[in-house]
Amino acid sequence: MATRIILNYIALYLFIFLYNYYCIRADHMKPRESPPSPHQHIGSACDLILDGYQRHQEVENFLRRVCEMHENVTELFDIGSTYEGRRMLVLKIGFKKQATTPANERRKSAWIDGGIHAREHIAPSTVLYIICQVHIFIFFLKGITVNSKKITNLLTQSDWYFLPVVNPDGYEYSFTKNRMWRKNRRPTSPNCIGVDLNRNWIFGWGGADSEANPCAFNYRGEHAESEAEVINIVRFITDQQSCDSQFFSFITYHSYGQKIYTGAQHGYGDNNEATALAYEMSKSIKKVNGAHYQVGTSSALAYPFGGGSSDWAKRVVQIKYSYLIELRDRGQNGFLLTRKEIVPTGQEQWAAILKLGAAILNAQNLKKVINCTDETKLKYQYKHPKLEKLNIHIAQRHKNSWKSMISNIGSTNVKHYLTVFILFFVIIVLLS
Ligand SMILES: [Zn+2]
Repeated sequence: MATRIILNYIALYLFIFLYNYYCIRADHMKPRESPPSPHQHIGSACDLILDGYQRHQEVENFLRRVCEMHENVTELFDIGSTYEGRRMLVLKIGFKKQATTPANERRKSAWIDGGIHAREHIAPSTVLYIICQVHIFIFFLKGITVNSKKITNLLTQSDWYFLPVVNPDGYEYSFTKNRMWRKNRRPTSPNCIGVDLNRNWIFGWGGADSEANPCAFNYRGEHAESEAEVINIVRFITDQQSCDSQFFSFITYHSYGQKIYTGAQHGYGDNNEATALAYEMSKSIKKVNGAHYQVGTSSALAYPFGGGSSDWAKRVVQIKYSYLIELRDRGQNGFLLTRKEIVPTGQEQWAAILKLGAAILNAQNLKKVINCTDETKLKYQYKHPKLEKLNIHIAQRHKNSWKSMISNIGSTNVKHYLTVFILFFVIIVLLS
């Protein structure tokens, strides 16, 4: 009897050992050949896009890819072209279809842009960082991260519009010819090129720190809104406001100096509520990596200027929380900020955006839609022949991954199941 029990134990241990060896270990050692999942795809796209300062074409490709992967919650708008013919693409993200927004009600909206000044490369990268945070959240972290509820509420109750590069012509020129270029690239006189796009907006146009000389680095243009890049944004935001979006925030990223400007001059936009929120944002920024961002009007912290975009947003469109944010650093590397600072700068701003988002959700006076036409809705629809091609490519890859899964079952897994069955049979024989 004792011998029988010992034999049973030996058989059981033999079974466990062989099962582990052949089925579990062998399976883990098997090389993984299946193509990356869409999750890995977006994760690695963000890793790549934040690894360095990207050319405009890469930024555009990234926006399109993100839009394709989240077609239910994103929209891509073509808001017009630049002087040199580059497209200006705006990405909108929001869980509109999941939310129960009545047909005639607007959605709370926020605008974030960067790169109006060509040489400030950290600005587009910071917009991309924020887009990445939202997308990684949608793919991976929903329900897991500590901010999950906050971000879900934000995307359910508001829409976020992103334009990473306001001045793509100048931005490209700063990569290829002159790293310190600031203006756009439209010829303005026989000898000079470019208008300072942050001096070309209608509010305060021709004011402080804006030159009438076309050769000046801060040339304001022949008249207000003379530049395609400016007028494209003016028309787009005005049209969205007349349809289903009501902007409560307008953020425009610049560099450098680590400052949050609540307005260009005293009295322009420095109302109490917006200033209080800017201090809250600055506190959130400091908690991340210890970086200090000053808060105030640009005339208090640096110098006044006229014709800037955030003053237009604040005073013409009446967007409550409108800020110009000067990103890192405080002058050590200035416009030539190293790529290692892309992620920490983005992390700081993401914390500030979450603070801003909470304020947007608390904001009052959401108005009803009154004069939205179908023409306005369709005006900025993005159509690109390559978009369809890319979709097909992704669908094909999914098909291939299913094929490889089926062939795996046919080869390796069946072998494992057979081994288990034989072992089980041996045990039954030993026990009987
Ligand atoms: Zn700037």
